[in-house]
Amino acid sequence: MEDYEKMLESAFEKMPKKNHEKDRFQIPDAITEIQGNKTLVRNFGDIASVLRREPAHMAKFLFKELATPGNIQGSALIFQRKLMKDQIQDKIVGYVKDFVLCKICGEPDTKFVKEGRITIIQCDACGGRSPYKAV
Ligand SMILES: [Zn+2]
Repeated sequence: MEDYEKMLESAFEKMPKKNHEKDRFQIPDAITEIQGNKTLVRNFGDIASVLRREPAHMAKFLFKELATPGNIQGSALIFQRKLMKDQIQDKIVGYVKDFVLCKICGEPDTKFVKEGRITIIQCDACGGRSPYKAV
């Protein structure tokens, strides 16, 4: 019977480890377009919805980080200056690091929770709570 137990043990070892969900999450690629002296992010609404964040919050962050004013028009974001796609994409990645990914487990399943005057990022995956950096 010892062999049978060993067989069971090795069968357990061979079972696949729980798939990590990080592989599933991808930061969307910004589709940008220069129009005159302005830069449009055509799929801004989609990006915000994939990240599950308010477009206005994300826009405020990007305007500040890129030191460029702009506005949201429909599902597009407009910067009042010519910008390279990579410049914008870099800041979107920065936004995801600061405001979307859980600081504890690294999963993107987070939401903002208000506690009195402060807002924290609460993680649905691990229950972790991280401080929130104001924009
Ligand atoms: Zn977490």
